[in-house]
Amino acid sequence: MIVGGGVMGAATACFLARDHGAQVTVLERDPTYARASSALSASSIRQQFSTPVNIALSRWSLQFLRRLGDELDLLDERPHIGLVEPGYLFLATAAGEAALRANHEMQVREGAEVVLLTPDRLRERFPWLQVDDLALGSLGVRGEGWFDGPALMQAFRRKAIDCGVHFVVAEARGFETAASQVRAVLDTQGHRFEARAAVLCAGAWTAPLAAQLGITLPVVAKKRDVFVFDTPAALPNCPLVIDPAGVWFRPDGRGFIAGAPPREPWPGDPDEPPLDAVDHELFDEKIWPVLAARVPALDTLRLRSTWAGYYEMNTFDHNGLAGALPGWDNAFTACGFSGHGMQQAPAVGSALAALVARGASDAPSLAPLSPRRLGDERPLREGNVI
Ligand SMILES: Cc1cc2nc3c(=O)[nH]c(=O)nc-3n(C[C@H](O)[C@H](O)[C@H](O)COP(=O)(O)OP(=O)(O)OC[C@H]3O[C@@H](n4cnc5c(N)ncnc54)[C@H](O)[C@@H]3O)c2cc1C
Repeated sequence: MIVGGGVMGAATACFLARDHGAQVTVLERDPTYARASSALSASSIRQQFSTPVNIALSRWSLQFLRRLGDELDLLDERPHIGLVEPGYLFLATAAGEAALRANHEMQVREGAEVVLLTPDRLRERFPWLQVDDLALGSLGVRGEGWFDGPALMQAFRRKAIDCGVHFVVAEARGFETAASQVRAVLDTQGHRFEARAAVLCAGAWTAPLAAQLGITLPVVAKKRDVFVFDTPAALPNCPLVIDPAGVWFRPDGRGFIAGAPPREPWPGDPDEPPLDAVDHELFDEKIWPVLAARVPALDTLRLRSTWAGYYEMNTFDHNGLAGALPGWDNAFTACGFSGHGMQQAPAVGSALAALVARGASDAPSLAPLSPRRLGDERPLREGNVI
């Protein structure tokens, strides 16, 4: 039994049924996915993390995404997610250079295809970029880019259904348990769903469910705004650029999208604010000035639209929580990926399915992401949260 049918739940269900022949039911309260992170994601994939497990999960997922048509094909249809790989470009001033170099060393050790570029090399490669204040850039030359995230979620969902998974519209509210076993999931309408195992994949809303099993998960819904703009400027080979000021932008269709962490102190970063309250001043006061300074050709950009979604933020260490729930024989979770869950869903779904079905998974290992680290007070801090 899986609670939550976003990309994590759909991927886990798909691998459980496809690879392990398991009988799986997914409870999803909103089949329109109106507030699900998976429907509102910027859906980009990178290798430039500060923790090895994130590099391993994203590299595994990348290989899966490259062969997606074969992996998730249906009798009459091959899914397409439009994966492109123009890279991520992290920029650093002198203040951030040492951290960029340290991350680079670790990333190369872990097999990431990344190069460091001096300001001169940056200027040669991206003539539209203003580099005078920069000390260094780090570019993913392969294996980083973006894709259609909602299409990936639907591809997992359809393949799962094709393999016999039942998606049921229901909102889980609690569990029937006996000793250290979950016996059933209970919904808000009074229905009881018998469960041989329970996997909590409810995204930003997983903590209240885990609380029903006596477990505190530090996962909350943090709104992140995305701004869509058009420009007559051409930026050849434009990767996903992360400015030292925290602003990011990348091409999207015929235009661009951009974002930044919320403004402090106002409106700050409250838990689960309404998604229609996009902070336009964030764009006017922070994002637009940074874009115009970094890429002078963007001086004349035109804001076309906006959207917002929730990061399922793990406030403990900004990394995913994936694996068995401590104290329970048959309860698991995959949540709290803090803005990098879309790209890791293939690897996490595959590894978690193996853990649920066989009690162990092959590579990639989810061990570093085990929720046990919460109780042990051993945070696995991800430094590169965008
Ligand atoms: C603006 C934005 C940009 C992002 N950019 C990136 C990116 O570039 N790259 C990347 O990898 N990731 C990115 N992410 C993060 C990524 O989208 C998420 O990590 C991922 O989608 C999480 O998937 P999920 O299945 O865990 O959660 P969700 O997609 O939220 O799915 C959880 C589901 O559980 C359901 N649910 C909740 N409670 C219950 C209940 N009690 N009973 C039944 N169902 C329930 C919900 O309705 C929902 O459909 C971004 C997210 C946002 C918002």
